[in-house]
Amino acid sequence: MIGVLGGTGFYSLLGDAEKKEIETPFGKTSSHVGIGKIHGKDVAFIARHGEKHEYPPHKIPYKANMFAFKEIGVTHIIAPAAVGSLKREIKPGDFLVPDQFVNFTRREDTFYDGPEIVHMGSTEPYCPDLRRIIIQEGVSAGYPLHPKGTVVVIQGPRFSSHAESGFFRSQNWDIINMTQYPEVMLAREKEMCYANISLVTDYDTGVKDDPDVLPVSIEDVMRILKENNEKTKKLIFNAVRKISENRSCVCAKALDDAKL
Ligand SMILES: [Zn+2]
Repeated sequence: MIGVLGGTGFYSLLGDAEKKEIETPFGKTSSHVGIGKIHGKDVAFIARHGEKHEYPPHKIPYKANMFAFKEIGVTHIIAPAAVGSLKREIKPGDFLVPDQFVNFTRREDTFYDGPEIVHMGSTEPYCPDLRRIIIQEGVSAGYPLHPKGTVVVIQGPRFSSHAESGFFRSQNWDIINMTQYPEVMLAREKEMCYANISLVTDYDTGVKDDPDVLPVSIEDVMRILKENNEKTKKLIFNAVRKISENRSCVCAKALDDAKL
């Protein structure tokens, strides 16, 4: 089964989905789980922020969402999200498929609090095979797509200060977001393949030395998301078609070398 986590502005995927309420040891998932089919494949959908966008980034039940996906047999997760750009050449309306993250959140980020101990490797946190599929589909559809990049994940819900954003830029990081962490690593702990489709909605606090580029506003974010929602869905539908049940990536056996 393939899991899809809808981000801001993306609250449903399948019109005729069967709605399931799933209770986990970590509470309820952010939304009901919508189960249906895309190109004959089983797909499960969760709205990351809830169907009415009632969960801010720091209150999302990340563990419940990932636990539920694993419970119902999800092996691959496609997780779109809205991001800000930290570089002039990464423009609003562009897509980016990150290969690295930097964590600036303070959140619970493991299923292993003892007595069972796991030190999960995170050298390559995003599934390389799933990323490749998304990149190929995006490029062949003619989308403005950056095939890699580093996402810095902040706690939120507030946006960055000018100084914070300047620091992130000085590190040569590419985009900024509030939900990629711990989602990506919780998926890895459950041995599920995980890839993110970042949709750039703004320039964070602006562009250095260009006063014409205004800092991020909710209005701009929602406008760009609305304009690109169908494109994101189309990319997901095309990617689902290419996903194979056989996995030879690092994710499938991630726990083998991680348990103490
Ligand atoms: Zn994988």
